[in-house]
Amino acid sequence: MMQVYMLYGAPTSGKGTICKLFEDKHIVSMGHLLRQHQLTDGANMVSSEIVNKLLVREIQSRQGVPFVILDGYPRTTDQIDFIKSCPNIELTRFIHLTCRDETVLYRTSLREVCLCGASYMPVLKPSKVAGICDLCGQQLFRRNDDELKHVEQRLKIYHAQTPQIISAFKNIYLPIDMDDNDCFKRACRILAASDKNFEFLKNKEIIRM
Ligand SMILES: [Zn+2]
Repeated sequence: MMQVYMLYGAPTSGKGTICKLFEDKHIVSMGHLLRQHQLTDGANMVSSEIVNKLLVREIQSRQGVPFVILDGYPRTTDQIDFIKSCPNIELTRFIHLTCRDETVLYRTSLREVCLCGASYMPVLKPSKVAGICDLCGQQLFRRNDDELKHVEQRLKIYHAQTPQIISAFKNIYLPIDMDDNDCFKRACRILAASDKNFEFLKNKEIIRM
């Protein structure tokens, strides 16, 4: 039985950075899957039927992997019902990275990303050389959907869907406050204590976060 963790949070709450702490085989990113299939508008906009199909195919392709972390799924009631009805998986925990709207607005106003998927933020998580990716040396750039009007829209959607998602998973709900600059250290501590699959995070050396 594959264990499934769901990772949820507002833009810049740290989902991507948390995912990078795990080997790729453990991460199922809905945003990534949608982009692979040229469906770029996110899980809120694409029909749940398509999103659910992509998810099942992806989970089946991870046969033998003891656990996966779902990033960006589920978002809608259709998707919630679907994941709850999936056979051969155990929904283990719903991890909610929380932070205030002001923090999201501040961080998205500063965030720079790389084509390789890395993302950087002055103060919280700067690149070693300004404007250059630490991992691959490419030029960093601003994401179009990090512009204010898009962020406000993303926050609106996030707040609209959050109550029903929390209530659907309240028995496995694990909130983690990601509002300050120590948030990644704290998140690793809380995750390590919460589950044996996450125990390795206790000793994880998190540099420059
Ligand atoms: Zn890069």
